[in-house]
Amino acid sequence: MIIAVDGPAGAGKSTVSRLLARSLGFTDIDAGAMYRALTLKALEHNLDAGDTEAIVAMAQRTSIGLTAGPDGGIRVLLDERDVTQEIRLPRITRLVSDVAKVRGVREVMVKLQRKLGASCDSVLDGRDIGTAVFPDADRKFYIDADFKERVRRRHKEMKEAGQEITLEAVAADLKNRDTIDSTRDCNPLKKAADAVYIDTTDMTIEQVVGELVSRIKAPLKRN
Ligand code: C5P
Repeated sequence: MIIAVDGPAGAGKSTVSRLLARSLGFTDIDAGAMYRALTLKALEHNLDAGDTEAIVAMAQRTSIGLTAGPDGGIRVLLDERDVTQEIRLPRITRLVSDVAKVRGVREVMVKLQRKLGASCDSVLDGRDIGTAVFPDADRKFYIDADFKERVRRRHKEMKEAGQEITLEAVAADLKNRDTIDSTRDCNPLKKAADAVYIDTTDMTIEQVVGELVSRIKAPLKRN
């Protein structure tokens, strides 16, 4: 079974997907972490995001793996190296959407995501899972929240991770990424026509997970 969870930055997709996967006994596949790992490698190789040829060639030569960590979270492996923490740093976040908008990069990532997802029951979270990666996913959700609330959540998460950042800087980052992610030519962020839209602004994480679990367990209604 494939469950697609899409939505804009800061809506809580990663946390919800991790808990959802755990509660269903599924594998959690964080597509954003894969784009982040590639962005880290591009930075380490001093590649410019505008140099699409070099970025695509790099993507084709890169191994990205996701494994379960001892705490139940996902460990992200870039060419066998654990980069789980590093890929969350602001310098990666600032650049990731410019790397992710490159068509050739997406082709490599989508292929890998399909391979990983097809190998077991999976929850995949990202921007284009229900529209492009698994258009035939068994269940599709689009998780959203008011912009202000998304900023607040992302800011809290970063503070908890020990990163010093202002609310204004978080707001600017989310706005920038939302714009690039939803206006790019290749597989832009958008709700799949058959995805269930969930506004989580006034919901706790537990409520969102509970809502998803009950919808997944309910018989599917096809129009
Ligand atoms: O989910 P997260 O915020 O970690 O994603 C980081 C970035 O990866 C997004 O802003 C987007 O540019 C890119 N991404 C994407 N397609 C996906 C998942 C993430 O383009 N399916």
